[in-house]
Amino acid sequence: MSFSSLGLIEPLLRAVAEQGYTSPSPIQEKAIPAVLSGRDLMAAAQTGTGKTAGFTLPLLQRLMGPDGASRKRVGANRVRALVLTPTRELAMQVAESVATYGKFLPLRHTVVFGGVGINPQMMALRKGVDVLVACPGRLLDLHAQNAVRFDELEVLVLDEADRMLDMGFIHDIRRILRLLPTKRQNLLFSATFAEEIRELATSLLQEPLSIEVAPRNTTAERIEQLVHPVDKANKPALLCHLIKSHDWKQVLVFTRTKHIANRLAEKLEREGIRAAAIHGNKSQGARTSALSGFKSGEIRVLVATDIAARGLDIDKLPQVINFELPNVAEDYVHRIGRTGRAGADGHAISLVAADEGKLLRGIEKLIKQDIERQVVAGFEPDTQTLQAIERGIGQPARKGQEGGDAGRAARPRSQQKPRSGAAAPKSGEGKPASAKRSPRPAAKSGNGKGRSATADGRPQQSQTKQHANQSVRPHGNR
Ligand code: AMP
Repeated sequence: MSFSSLGLIEPLLRAVAEQGYTSPSPIQEKAIPAVLSGRDLMAAAQTGTGKTAGFTLPLLQRLMGPDGASRKRVGANRVRALVLTPTRELAMQVAESVATYGKFLPLRHTVVFGGVGINPQMMALRKGVDVLVACPGRLLDLHAQNAVRFDELEVLVLDEADRMLDMGFIHDIRRILRLLPTKRQNLLFSATFAEEIRELATSLLQEPLSIEVAPRNTTAERIEQLVHPVDKANKPALLCHLIKSHDWKQVLVFTRTKHIANRLAEKLEREGIRAAAIHGNKSQGARTSALSGFKSGEIRVLVATDIAARGLDIDKLPQVINFELPNVAEDYVHRIGRTGRAGADGHAISLVAADEGKLLRGIEKLIKQDIERQVVAGFEPDTQTLQAIERGIGQPARKGQEGGDAGRAARPRSQQKPRSGAAAPKSGEGKPASAKRSPRPAAKSGNGKGRSATADGRPQQSQTKQHANQSVRPHGNR
C-alpha cells in the first residue's frame, strides 16, 4: 500500500516522501482514511507505531478544506485543531511532526507547555493558529488569560490518553472539554484501554471508529529482551561494565525515581561515560539540551524516569536498559517500545535485584512471555537474589508515577530474603558467562495489578523518601 492510495494530498505526500517513508505503517493505513472521513476515532496504538503521522497527516489535510486547497482563515487567538499531550517532550515532538508533515502547506501551528515563560506563547497565539499542540495545565492558564479561544475549534486529539489519566490530568481534560464547541471531530489515542479510558471515550466520542493495530500490551517481537539477575548494590557497576564492554554508543536507561536517575548519571560521568538525567524536576532547558545531546551522540547515556521518557522519539534507539523495573507492568512495554522503533531491531535489558521478583513476574504475565535470564560473569548475584527473583518475591506492582523520589519505600534487607528451603539455582558454578534461567519454582506470584490511586483517580502521592537502600554505590560496596 502507498500513501497516495490513502487519499492524501500532494503537499503531504511530498513531505512524507522527504522523510523517506515508503509505505504507511499499519496504524497509518487505518487511521488516515478514518480521520479523513471526519469520524471520531478511538485508536489503540503503542509508541513507535507511527501513530503521530497517523493523525497529523489527515488532520492537516482536513484543515485544508474538502478540496485540499481552501484553508479557512483563523481568527485572532483562535485554534482550529487542538492536540493535547501529557508531557512537554511529547508536545514538542508532535509539534515537530506537524511542522515536518505540514511543511508544504500554508498552516500555522504552535506548541504550549508549562515550565517556560508564558508571554512568547501568548504572542504566538495572538494571530490564531491552525494547530495548537498543548499540555493541559498551560492551556488552561492561557485560556484564563484570554490568550486562546476555542469557538473555531474543529478537531480535538487526545494523544497518549492513558498516560494523561495516569498523571492525574483528568480534571484538566474535563475542564478543557467544557470549553470546546460540541460539534467537532475527536480523536483519542492510547497505548492501552483501561476502564478509565473507556469511560472517557464514552463521554467524549460519538459513534467512534475503533482501531487497534497490535494486541494490547504485547511486546514488539523484534525486541530482544533479557534479564540480568544482579545484587542491587552491583547494578551501577554492571551497567558501566555492559556499556563499556559492548561499546554502546546510545543507551536509554530507566530508573524509577528522579533521585536514582541523578545519582546514576553522576556515577556514569565519574566512570568516564557521558551521561545526563532527564526527569520532571529538570528545567525545560536542561531537558531539551540533554535530549539533543543524546540525539547527536554527544551524550552516550540518557537516564530517564518513566514520565520524562514518555514520548521521546529517538530514531532507531538500539539499546534500552531497565536499571530498575517499573512499578507498573505496562510501563515496561512503553519503556522497551523506545527501542526497535520503525522496523529497526531493538534490545532491552533489565537489571533485576532480589526485591524485583514480583515486578518481573507481573511483567511476564502481562506480556505473556518469559524473559530469558542471563547472569553476567563477574556480577553473579548471591543465591538469595536468584531465589527471590525466581519465586516472584518483592513489592507488588502498583500504579506508578514520577512524583517525588518515592517510587517505593526502601525495604529492610530482611524482607527481601526469600523463604527458606527453596531450591535455588546456583550462579557461577562451572558455567559460561551467561546462564539460562532455571525453571520457575511454583510459588505465589504477584499479579502486577494492585494499583493504588486516590479517590479522584490521581496516582497517590508518594509517602516515603527512599534513598538509603537504593543509593548508587560502587561495585562491591555492600
Ligand atoms: P510514532 O509512533 O508516531 O512516535 O513514530 C515512530 C517513528 O516512526 C518516528 O520516528 C517516525 O518518524 C517514524 N515513522 C512514522 N511513520 C513512518 C513510516 N510510514 N515509515 C517509516 N517510518 C515512519
